[in-house]
Amino acid sequence: MMKKPFVTKEQLETITKEYPTPFHLYDEKGIRENARKLKQAFAWNPGFKEYFAVKATPNPAILRILKEEGCGTDCSSMTELMMSERIGFAGDEIMFSSNDTPAEEFIKARELDATINLDDITHIDFLKKSAGIPKKISCRFNPGGIFELGTDIMDNPGDAKYGMTKEQILEAYARLKDLGVETFGMHAFLASNTVTNEYYPTLAKILFQLAVEIKEKTGVALSFINLSGGVGVPYTPDKEPNDILAIGEGVHKVYDEVLAPAGMGDVKIFTELGRFMLAPYGHLVVKAIHEKHIYKEYIGVDACAVNLMRPAMYGAYHHITVMGKEEMPCDHIYDITGSLCENNDKFAVDRKLPEIEIGDLLVIHDTGAHGFAMGYNYNGKLKSAELLLREDGSVKLIRRAETPEDYFATLEGFWDLT
Ligand SMILES: *Cc1c(COP(=O)(O)O)cnc(C)c1O
Repeated sequence: MMKKPFVTKEQLETITKEYPTPFHLYDEKGIRENARKLKQAFAWNPGFKEYFAVKATPNPAILRILKEEGCGTDCSSMTELMMSERIGFAGDEIMFSSNDTPAEEFIKARELDATINLDDITHIDFLKKSAGIPKKISCRFNPGGIFELGTDIMDNPGDAKYGMTKEQILEAYARLKDLGVETFGMHAFLASNTVTNEYYPTLAKILFQLAVEIKEKTGVALSFINLSGGVGVPYTPDKEPNDILAIGEGVHKVYDEVLAPAGMGDVKIFTELGRFMLAPYGHLVVKAIHEKHIYKEYIGVDACAVNLMRPAMYGAYHHITVMGKEEMPCDHIYDITGSLCENNDKFAVDRKLPEIEIGDLLVIHDTGAHGFAMGYNYNGKLKSAELLLREDGSVKLIRRAETPEDYFATLEGFWDLT
């Protein structure tokens, strides 16, 4: 698969006249079309809802677009709950899938009447004491061991801090029922960034079978099952993207095989996708400002890991297009670097690209999720602006760039030692 930017060089040249690089640019059209396709993939399930994982792209404009497309939010912190509240998401449109949760956050979630997704059995008493037990609640499951699809090891739940064991979750439902809970759900997140149509159906089968067992053993009939995040995107151009319609059909088949015969054909399916909803619809747009020839060839750009941490943190691949040079041969090998005093601050290592000249605009692909959001302020570097490419081709600023005043704001009143 050839990776093509959703903007042209000419469009970017116009945009950069008003908004200097670096910035994150989001594609409203792509976001909406993808959200509609997800909805279509699960249209067979009347209660289906996607709760967008706010942590992936915590921007009000993005959340409003997704709200218009029928999505809710999935939060795991106070500020994510506050952002959802301010945008006007109703209680049943907010999922609170947190872990190691502070009491204030449970209190806030209860105040908003969000659906609390309990990470641990000990949180029942913690929640009871701090905020009270709601009428509706969800529990997070961790099957332990390793999670395999065929012969591929997908992830290692046995090593993950999340969720309850099977014995614990059975006990949790029984206790919550005694405490007056009337509506129950279950959640699990077993593998991240899967690029296979098998992940959701395989996860669904595990959860559906457990749901039947929960009903038999505790009398609790789940109302919803939350398949959470983990449906990924192909960051490298050699991978085929997931087919969300096939994924929806795969879950449908398992639903008809396992839940329907057990008299549980009214269970709602929820998702909490972040990456799948946004990653391909964001670009980090940067400019080449330096070239350096030592033991390797370097191109220095005007952004750094503060703007996109995934390469530095995970060694993640992000495709790069040199704008206007799409048809030129990739006959140069570069490290594309940022300006941090950290040698892992490289957007690409040994990347084959066309010859880059100072002033060239580069698009770093698939930065729409876990991109801007993971930013930090190391080296006193400032976070960039976020822009939205509207469906009519116009561009709207949806977050201004940080200024030194923002950076120094928390030091106001603390400049003197006395
Ligand atoms: C991060 C996260 C998600 C979203 O994961 P993606 O891989 O971005 O789809 C969903 N639910 C929970 C609880 C998460 O922590």
